[in-house]
Amino acid sequence: MSTLAARLARPEVLQLSPFDISANANVEFGPNAIKLDANENPFAPLGDGPLAVNVNRYPEPQPRGLVAAMAALYGVDSDRLVITRGADDAIDMLLRAFCRPQVDAIAISSPTFTAYQHFANLQGARVVDVPLGPNFDFGAERFIAGVRGQGVKLAFICSPNNPTGNEVDPAAVLRVADALDEVIVVVDEAYLEFSSTPSLAIAASARPNLVVLKTLSKAYGLAGARVGAAIGNADLIAIASRVLPPYPLPTLSIEAALAALNPARRALHEERINRIKSERDRLAPLLATSPLIRSVRNGGGNFLFLEVEDPEARASELRRLGIRVRFRPQAAPGGLRLTIGTEAENAAALSAFGINERGNCARKADVVRETKETSIAVAIDLDSPSPRRVHTGIPFYDHMLDQVAAHGGFSLVLECDGDLEIDAHHSVEDCAITLGTALSNALGERRGIGRFGFALPMDEAEAQVLIDVSGRPFSRFEGQFSASHIGDYPTEMTEHVFRSFADSLGAAIHVRVEGDNDHHKTEACFKAFGRALRQAIRFDGDAQALPSTKGVL
Ligand SMILES: *Cc1c(COP(=O)(O)O)cnc(C)c1O
Repeated sequence: MSTLAARLARPEVLQLSPFDISANANVEFGPNAIKLDANENPFAPLGDGPLAVNVNRYPEPQPRGLVAAMAALYGVDSDRLVITRGADDAIDMLLRAFCRPQVDAIAISSPTFTAYQHFANLQGARVVDVPLGPNFDFGAERFIAGVRGQGVKLAFICSPNNPTGNEVDPAAVLRVADALDEVIVVVDEAYLEFSSTPSLAIAASARPNLVVLKTLSKAYGLAGARVGAAIGNADLIAIASRVLPPYPLPTLSIEAALAALNPARRALHEERINRIKSERDRLAPLLATSPLIRSVRNGGGNFLFLEVEDPEARASELRRLGIRVRFRPQAAPGGLRLTIGTEAENAAALSAFGINERGNCARKADVVRETKETSIAVAIDLDSPSPRRVHTGIPFYDHMLDQVAAHGGFSLVLECDGDLEIDAHHSVEDCAITLGTALSNALGERRGIGRFGFALPMDEAEAQVLIDVSGRPFSRFEGQFSASHIGDYPTEMTEHVFRSFADSLGAAIHVRVEGDNDHHKTEACFKAFGRALRQAIRFDGDAQALPSTKGVL
């Protein structure tokens, strides 16, 4: 006996299999599993604090501020972009706007992202599959020949492709769009930020039959907020948008997306993307040495595609270790997609393939600090001398903080958006506080470090900086400046900066400076501080030892 609902439902809905997503595939894992299965960004969104927003009001259907921010991010005009509830929702929107049930078709190149097929099945649209070539390469001419004359309205090209990682040359996409001028070519750029392939967003905004899909889920760590977009010409976007629900975006998601796209956080997002890419490029050759793995494909995503020897044995080992991954046997025998996580998560994943890493844990930190006066993002790595990019809005201070990192021997990415229209005071002070906090976080328990540092005269100006990274703040400053400013930088802030460093880093810092030229004297203070810091934070002998006879810092 079928139920009333089953008798009345559309046949497509009854035949639909559950979403092919990790939540459905990995139900047996507990909440503490290491999640390397869903291509999420391992870093939590920047910033903190609960979102205080008026959820008693309906959101703007297409929030102007967010449309402008995303349009700027992707380099297109605002009327060429519609924001959707994730890129998934954009796929569904296109299917419902363009494909008539039982009549029209979509084209895909398998193995690829399964949502295209899912939403086509739901809509009752046929799926024409023109599989990728032997090496998962996309062949434009083969695709054009396979799609032509098949009633295809939408042709999906995923670049970089999920799960294989292969990137499709933009010239090949444009060739397809030119050749199939009655078909809308949809390029899914969900992972583009992790690749070296240029975006087709600007091309899509100007062409009759090209759409680009974007998402904040992967590169911007907002998978839980569900924010994506479709980009195309204004007419196409206006028509496709008609099928969206009246208020597609929850206010909390709009706020989360606006916060993530705050320009002051841009440098930190870039740094995180670079970290994920460098972890990917570090892991690929390591995994290739494992006898348990037949092949490793390192493409342009935040994941690797492996072909493993004994998928059942790997699955049980990964389950034992509590590590979630995606098995992709339809893509290749033994196919497994491994998302790049944090260094600790990646080390756990490597151990599942018999590769055990040893060594010190990473001494990195990123810190975001926001007040009504300043918005600051800092990323540092104490064990890497690069990159160094400092932007405080005060060029002289940029130069000073760069000196600290250069002489301290650590990487520093610092971006500050402050109330310089008032004066430099807040920006200078808050950058020092945020950098001090980042140093303190990166030092963690302060095991293994030298703890003490000192530095001595430089040129005709003499600066002496003594430091004890003891965990206890104290600062002393001896020195006078005759000029009130160096550029936009107020000289009276120097003493203040070192007090802020001492407080937020948890260190005793003694500075003494003499000389004639205020520029030289100031620069000498910052350089000497960097040198002192270099000695104090450097590993010194036993990496586990606490540099105190008390056994605690
Ligand atoms: C993850 C993913 C998406 C979906 O992203 P959301 O914005 O989270 O819906 C789209 N396309 C591909 C290829 C993906 O892997």
